Amino acid sequence: MKDLTRALRRRVRQSDASDWTATASRPSSAAPQGETTPPPSAAGKRPAAASKTKVFAELSEKIRACRACPLGAARIQAVPGVGSADAEVMFVGEGPGFDEDHKGEPFVGRSGQLLDKIMASIGLSRETVYIANIVKCHPMVDPSNPEKRGNDRPPSPDEIAACRGWLDVQIRTIRPRVIVTLGAVPARVLLDDPTGITKIRGRWRTYDPGEGAPPVRLLPTFHPAALLRNPDLKRDVWEDMKSLRAALAES
Ligand code: SF4
Repeated sequence: MKDLTRALRRRVRQSDASDWTATASRPSSAAPQGETTPPPSAAGKRPAAASKTKVFAELSEKIRACRACPLGAARIQAVPGVGSADAEVMFVGEGPGFDEDHKGEPFVGRSGQLLDKIMASIGLSRETVYIANIVKCHPMVDPSNPEKRGNDRPPSPDEIAACRGWLDVQIRTIRPRVIVTLGAVPARVLLDDPTGITKIRGRWRTYDPGEGAPPVRLLPTFHPAALLRNPDLKRDVWEDMKSLRAALAES
């Protein structure tokens, strides 16, 4: 843990937020089917990395084969997530879009590029964290045309309910120290709280993954797409990232 903390601090010193907060003044301020059981471990302890990696690979294969809701019939491919099975931080978004559906990886469009910069500003990367979504398949306005850009819509409550179990198994397997939700939908779903994202962002909460897994600290922040639409929000997200960095530096 001390080595990781030292490495994180070293990486943080080597990076800053100047490349993505340029326009903001700163600072101011239960699975659907075939659940894979996480490796056994003592209560409160994170399972061994090698054990988690094997379980996680099996879990991702089950998600890729899932057809538990109608999104599974229209998608090009399911998007389980990307990153380390031993991550200390999980970023959770809403669902895959056009680019993600085609590549099979979350956050690969413009929003993803900005998320990469945001993570880099506090020494994180998509290799060291885990990035996933509430639903694993692309919700489309016209499910008959997955090749059409701009064919995106939010997931329905039924689709979220059908897919939610996969995320909980991912969380119970990884056992991250922190979950960062990106945008309104993942915060509302995981916290079961309808409060708007502008009111809850930056406020630390706790998430219970269930089945005896330890509670996880949860930090809601804005979705990178919101920052692309309104660069003034970068100021708030930078504050949230500094809060995340401080939490990770705690031993
Ligand atoms: S969205 Fe989730 S529940 Fe629906 S088919 Fe895809 S993986 Fe299965």
